[in-house]
Parts: sequence; C-alpha cells; structure tokens
Amino acid sequence: MRYISTRGSAPALDFEAVTLAGLASDGGLYIPEAWPRFSADEIAALAGLSYVETAVRVMAPFVGDALGEDELRALCTQAYGRFSHDAVTPLVQLDHRHWLLELFHGPTLAFKDVALQLLGLLFERFLSQRDTHLTIVGATSGDTGSAAIDAVAGRAKIDIFMLHPAGRVSDVQRRQMTTMLAPNVHNIAIEGSFDDAQAMVKALFADREFTGRFALSAVNSINWARLMAQVVYYFYAGVRLGAPGKAIAFAVPTGNFGDVFAGYVAAQMGLPVERLIVATNVNDILHRALSTGDYSTGQVVPTATPSMDIQVSSNFERLLFDLGAREGSAMAAQMQGFEASRAMKLTNAQREGAAKLFASARIDADAMSLAMRWANERAGQILDPHTAVGLAAAMHHADEIDPAVPIVTLATAHAGKFRDAVERATGIRPGLPARVGSLFSREERFVTLPADLNVVKAWIAERATPSA
Ligand SMILES: *Cc1c(COP(=O)(O)O)cnc(C)c1O
Repeated sequence: MRYISTRGSAPALDFEAVTLAGLASDGGLYIPEAWPRFSADEIAALAGLSYVETAVRVMAPFVGDALGEDELRALCTQAYGRFSHDAVTPLVQLDHRHWLLELFHGPTLAFKDVALQLLGLLFERFLSQRDTHLTIVGATSGDTGSAAIDAVAGRAKIDIFMLHPAGRVSDVQRRQMTTMLAPNVHNIAIEGSFDDAQAMVKALFADREFTGRFALSAVNSINWARLMAQVVYYFYAGVRLGAPGKAIAFAVPTGNFGDVFAGYVAAQMGLPVERLIVATNVNDILHRALSTGDYSTGQVVPTATPSMDIQVSSNFERLLFDLGAREGSAMAAQMQGFEASRAMKLTNAQREGAAKLFASARIDADAMSLAMRWANERAGQILDPHTAVGLAAAMHHADEIDPAVPIVTLATAHAGKFRDAVERATGIRPGLPARVGSLFSREERFVTLPADLNVVKAWIAERATPSA
C-alpha cells in the first residue's frame, strides 16, 4: 500500500514512513493511493470475531508489508489489552432505533485511546530499527493530548511536546496530561485558542530549518495511522448490527473531522453505511460546509464540548480531495485560497459527492442538554456532552432515515471526563472510573507560554533531541 499527499507534490510513502511523518512535506495530508475493498463475504466473515481479530483484518490492507500479520496482531493485543471492557468498544441499546458505540474504555476515557494506544506501539516498533529520535509536536483541545501522552510516556527515542489552550480544557483532561512526569513529556499551556495552538504546530511542520534539526511527527488526526485504527470500530459495530445484509447509520460528534472520516473510509471499503451524520456544536463550520458549501471560519466560541470547539477541520481536506477526483494541484490551489482568505466554497462535485453520504446538524446547548436528559430517563445512560451532541444530531435526522436502519451514535468520552458540564446539564455528577487512579492528588508539571510562534519554537528547540 502506498500513500499520496492531498496536495500532489510530496513523495508517495509506504505505511511505515507515513506513520512516522504525519503531515506531508507539501503541507497536504497522506491518504491511501486507492481504497481497499471488502466483498460482502469478507464482511460477513467478520461476524463473531474479537475486536483484535477485526482490527487485524481491517487494518492489514493499509499496513501492507510494513508489519507481518502476527506482528500486527501482537501490537493490537497489547494496545487493546489496556481497555477495561472485553469488547473494547461495546454497543449499548438506547431504544428501538438508537444505539451507542462506547469508545471510552481506554486509559484516558476518550475515543482517542483506540488509535493512540496503537500508534504509540507503532512508533516504538518502527523506531527500533532506525537510528532516529522522534519529536512529537501536537496541539490538543484536551483528549488527543492525554491519550497521546499516555501512549508514549517513558518510551525510548521519543519526546512529546503537547500544546493545549490554557484554561480551556477540563480539570480531568489537564491533569491526565500534566501529571505524567516522565522526562520525555512536555506540556505547554498556550495563552490562546485550540486553533492558535494548531496553527503553531502546522507552522513548525512547515519550517525547514526546524524540520532539518528534529524528526517531527504528528499524533493529531492528520496522522493517517490514527484514522486507520478508527475504521475498525465502524466494521465491528456494523457487523454486530447486521452488516453486510443491513445498512447502518452513524452519528459522529465532530471537531477535526477525523473520526467521521474513518466512517467514510469504512463506507469506501464496502461497509453498507446508510448515512454519516456530522454533529457539530455552535462552532459549525462543518455543518455550514456540508449544508451550504460555505467553508469559512468564524471566531471560536467556548462550549461544554471543548473537543469540538474548532473552526478549521484538518481532515476535511482528505474528503474534499477524494470527492474532487483526487487532483492534487487543484486541492493545493483550493487550500491556498482558504489559508489566505479563511474562506472557500466547495465545488459542485464536492457538494454533490458529500450529499450522497453525509448529513449534518448544529446542536446548541439546549438541544445537547435535552439529549442528555432523554438518554438518562429513557435508558439510564449518563452521556458526556460530546456524545449528547452526537445523539441530538442522530435524533434530528432520524425521521429521514429508513426506520429499519439502526442509528449508532459514537460515544466519544466517558461522562466523568466532563463531569462539571454534565452536572450543569442534568444535575447529576458522574463519578470517575477506578482506572484513572489518584489523578487529583498527583503533582502537575507544565509551562504557560504566549501564542507566539517564536517563543514556542525556541522553548521546544532548547529541550528536544536532534533527529540523529
Ligand atoms: C476529539 C474528540 C471529538 C472530535 O473528534 P474529531 O476526530 O476531531 O472529529 C469528539 N468528542 C470527543 C470526546 C473528542 O475527544
């Protein structure tokens, strides 16, 4: 399997190189040269397999020759062995239509663990054969940072520098990052928004002097291996609810468009996906783009769902590239226009292609609270705010979907991770599961820096290990 850049001018890479690189050198994102396709028989054969076996079958075509099947299985066994539920991502029924796919049974209580526990092991495995030291630089609205730090803390040949917007992550999220005191972990609180932090990370990746000194790698969902690992649970849930004989709809609380893009990949691979419902909060660039073709940024409004408080959705570029006949030079021009004016229009081909599979909804605080209360009263389920945004969008579109199609809302975080917001919406204060341990009595370590690229760059350069 080879990977090409959405902007057409970076070299094609294999799985190992694409995993270590993250972003492409032309500023684009890597995507498989062609989608692997499963026949209906191959999908039917997934029924009854464990999560790990499903993961091996779904990921093998993307990994190609980079790992043997036994090696891939060993890494998946280790990564998913850290989850607290035997099914890894169990399904829970809410009523005759609606289901939850619980993705939060990993060590840091959000779905990011599903991909990052594996990614940490892939980094270690690929670095073991190379004479390279990796410098991970990432921006987080909370959950990627905690999951990535958990996945790489203490690993040899890796340093991680994680930028989060100061004061805009929950206390649980912050402590999950800042109480990891391994010497290879560096937390930076940025005096700005998530988008400010993400823009600085992108600028560092584009800085030739910096990338010449340090082997930079990404753990944001711009890293292809993350999306690949997330494709697995769409298949795992789909076959449990009747695929390939039956179609399934998924509602996905969305920020950077990574999780829902994994659903798009599953559909390209042959999973019968009836609809992908993109749920946004009031930071609704994706809802506007999908419903009117207008992809233009506004000011970020802080909400109870911080992991969705963004105005630029990096992975949307992958979808636009695939829907726009995969023309790298046209994509590069479209994105340069966007980067200059902070706005762009989708082409007709992109709009029509997206409309075949996607629906979207913008969910405000009232609709979110209503969905939380409904899930609690109807099914005794306490939802985290992000999941509630997803469920509200699922309910909004349910009438347009064939009543025989189950609608699965991706439950992206444990309610305990956002307990203040849950308490404000429902009056119920969810507990934290035992696996987070003594989070609130441990020492924290982080630095606060201004949203100034030169200051951040100098701070990292002083502490990072040169590539070789
Ligand atoms: C990251 C995150 C999201 C958004 O996922 P994307 O892949 O960025 O679209 C939604 N909910 C939670 C809890 C998250 O951590």
